[in-house]
Amino acid sequence: MRDAARRPRLEAASPFELRVDLGHRIPETGVRAAIASGDVGFLHSFTTGATVDGPGVRLVAWTSGCMWRCRYCHNPDTWAVTNGIPVSVARATEQLRKYRQGLNMMAGGFTLSGGEPLMQHRFAVKLFAAAKELGIHTALDTNGFYGARLTDAELEQVDLVLLDIKGWNAERHTALTGMDNAPTLEFARRLAGRKRAMWLRYVLVPGLTDDLDDIAHIARFAVTLGNVERVDVLPFHQMGKYKWAELHLPYTLPDTEPPDAQLVERTLEVFRREGLRAH
Ligand code: SF4
Repeated sequence: MRDAARRPRLEAASPFELRVDLGHRIPETGVRAAIASGDVGFLHSFTTGATVDGPGVRLVAWTSGCMWRCRYCHNPDTWAVTNGIPVSVARATEQLRKYRQGLNMMAGGFTLSGGEPLMQHRFAVKLFAAAKELGIHTALDTNGFYGARLTDAELEQVDLVLLDIKGWNAERHTALTGMDNAPTLEFARRLAGRKRAMWLRYVLVPGLTDDLDDIAHIARFAVTLGNVERVDVLPFHQMGKYKWAELHLPYTLPDTEPPDAQLVERTLEVFRREGLRAH
């Protein structure tokens, strides 16, 4: 009883709750072993009721661990794996079981987001298998960099991939995220080849990711894939700004405003011109 009371709360009101060091007691070797087996994963939190991370109402598990360093990241507390709560597959499955009926009633499902979920791909695969076993729709929100870690059979457990494409121009993408976008684009092609449903997500930041030519390249690429069911343009906001300060990280966008309605509309139009459904 006392242990349960001491266990960190899995549920959070939103992923914008700052969480740090919840897995710090696990030695480095334990972290590595957990990641290799996938029997235990590190989660920032679970949130319920989300309606933007896949169809219907979603239960979202936010993993900790991300190797990218996006300048606009809203959740830099998810970068370190050990900021997350160590959670066994059995405990996570309990959560899925608890919400199963409601999720199915609301035509929703389970979304694994992060951080970058494929940093813990063995855990991700086990969670998706558990969700499918319970008859729950599954979605993976990923930057795609480690998409090659999933086998074709494992991909079959994922009903929908929410693929974040953060930029087309390779140099600018690296300046924005610290990483190359080629693996992400390759994963998109693979998903298309395997006819896996995909939603493309694009974070729109004034002065940083609002180059309409660059966006047009992404739109043309997306339409050639043939599996992109919709595009979500996600307007930048400052809800994660305080986390950068709390974590003593250098934040380069302290004065950047969210995009105005006209910029959002112009961006949506770039995707719609190619015949894509964009929101
Ligand atoms: S990929 Fe996502 S979690 Fe990782 S740094 Fe970028 S925005 Fe943050």
